[in-house]
Amino acid sequence: MNFELDDDHRMLRDLVQKFVAQELMPLEAAVMERETSGQDADLSPEERQRIDAVSKDLGLWSLDAPAEVGGLGMPHVALVAVNEALGSTVAKYTLPPDSPNLRMLATTVNERQREAYLAPYARGETISAIGISEPGAGSDPAGMQTRAVRDGDDWVINGRKIWITRAAEADFTILMAITDPEKRARGGMSAFLVDRGTPGFNVLRRIPMLGGEYTYEVLLEDCRVPGWKLLGTEGQGFGPMQVRLGTRRMEMAAWCIGAAQRALDMMRDYAPQRKTFGHKLSERQSVQWWVADAAMQIHATRLMAYDCAWKLDNGIDVRNEISMLKIFATEMAQQVVDNAMQCFGGMGMTREMPLHLFSGRIRTMRIYDGPSEVHRMVVARNLMDTRP
Ligand SMILES: Cc1cc2nc3c(=O)[nH]c(=O)nc-3n(C[C@H](O)[C@H](O)[C@H](O)COP(=O)(O)OP(=O)(O)OC[C@H]3O[C@@H](n4cnc5c(N)ncnc54)[C@H](O)[C@@H]3O)c2cc1C
Repeated sequence: MNFELDDDHRMLRDLVQKFVAQELMPLEAAVMERETSGQDADLSPEERQRIDAVSKDLGLWSLDAPAEVGGLGMPHVALVAVNEALGSTVAKYTLPPDSPNLRMLATTVNERQREAYLAPYARGETISAIGISEPGAGSDPAGMQTRAVRDGDDWVINGRKIWITRAAEADFTILMAITDPEKRARGGMSAFLVDRGTPGFNVLRRIPMLGGEYTYEVLLEDCRVPGWKLLGTEGQGFGPMQVRLGTRRMEMAAWCIGAAQRALDMMRDYAPQRKTFGHKLSERQSVQWWVADAAMQIHATRLMAYDCAWKLDNGIDVRNEISMLKIFATEMAQQVVDNAMQCFGGMGMTREMPLHLFSGRIRTMRIYDGPSEVHRMVVARNLMDTRP
């Protein structure tokens, strides 16, 4: 058993850490100021353009894209350290292309779709969204109502999606719909590639979320999609969708480790400097326990994340591990960040420190890609007979 990263992966980790420290951290103040003034807590278009150029120059694009479309084919294990570094700053940036849809495309595309969708996406030339959730079906996507019906060579899609990140900006959305209402998730759910601007793909509204994020509601009204844009096999969309969700859950765990480590580092630096009642905060047992508990929990989450990543890379079924990891990582980071906010007193309650943005973002992670309660249900179901 070896817990060390390969030399290549260690060099990649060091490079991304340096990139985050030198390029992203200096943008945090501007991101927080934007959020305070009611704008998105995001990089400005100019900042993004510059950061894109720098990260591309450093060779940090297409890290986990398949080699046959020009990527480096990096395993999940290498990506844990990359995402941990990216998660340590509130100047949020994703190295193109975003991994979850990339991996879903890579497992499903045919030749034509490879050229038209996967290859440009893998090169970081396009951005995408995923449309699963609906007003009446989120935790349980099998209950979705959006229907795709064959009409000649085309598919016609009707329904409504909600909470869709990037729906308005994405060049294409991977849209999940029911193609066989009898079978639903068991052979009756399919994925479609829907381009931005397709008639009938109507973005209704932009929804501000916690942590300076936003999502969209989308109405599908007789949205006509050419037959060749059915992604994968008709009726078999549920499996590839789980590949996608699993990839995001891995990423999310690594972001949580990065955010929690940053909060721990902030507490560790601050507590020995601040005196109350004639003593340093670092002398107080409550503060020592926040620091010690954070270090323990971050260590445990890192081990869980690498275990899960290694198993994924080796084709081992991680349905149980990934649910445990998602719950543990998000709840661990929420607690560590909250303790850090407490440690900083009034300063921890300001919008001038990154902690509140971490807190808001981690809070949303306890919902998207499956709320904690649903993942606990999955873990329990794998351990005992939960049927009534
Ligand atoms: C920031 C953000 C971004 C998102 N981006 C996307 C996106 O890009 N694409 C997309 O398709 N969706 C997206 N979502 C939607 C997200 O995946 C859903 O919100 C999530 O799956 C929960 O579904 P729901 O909101 O319908 O809650 P519901 O399914 O109504 O659940 C509500 C609550 O009920 C409880 N609950 C539900 N089921 C159980 C159970 N079996 N046992 C115990 N308790 C239960 C949980 O506490 C849960 O939080 C995003 C959400 C957020 C917050």
